[in-house]
Amino acid sequence: MEFEKDYTLVKMEKQKHIALIAHDNRKRDLIEWVKQNREALSHHFLCGTGTTATIVAHETQLPVTAFNSGPMGGDQQVGSRIAEGKIDFMIFFWDPLAAQPHDPDVKALLRISVLYDIPVASNKSTADFLLSSPLMEAQYERTIIDYAKRIRSRSQEYSDAK
Ligand code: PGA
Repeated sequence: MEFEKDYTLVKMEKQKHIALIAHDNRKRDLIEWVKQNREALSHHFLCGTGTTATIVAHETQLPVTAFNSGPMGGDQQVGSRIAEGKIDFMIFFWDPLAAQPHDPDVKALLRISVLYDIPVASNKSTADFLLSSPLMEAQYERTIIDYAKRIRSRSQEYSDAK
């Protein structure tokens, strides 16, 4: 069975645009992780939600572009940049035990990162595996699925079969 092409490939350069985000209970974990991986991360462009970015920059002396704080729309700013292709990698240590005032924004951000096929780490082990991948220092093509086209062709197949 042959499928019609329903995706676009988007190139990620060797230097990734990495968003760093941590909820309050996880900030110290993220800071520790960035410190441990400072050298590898210094090859890439870093940004993050307001408080996380400010603390990481202060603690590591790495340049980190700061958006608004998460509850003030920072997650949405990161999400919009993912949609625009300006952020292509995310380390997001969210809190599995505490509800956040901006939980809808968190959900939207995680959804957008799946849609745009960007690597996301939500815990230390995943972050370690991602950062040690040879793809970190290589070009890579992300696959962005055109769901509208996929749904159209599925309904076409269904009506052809009738
Ligand atoms: P913050 O936002 O870095 O400004 O604390 C993180 C978040 O809550 O999403």
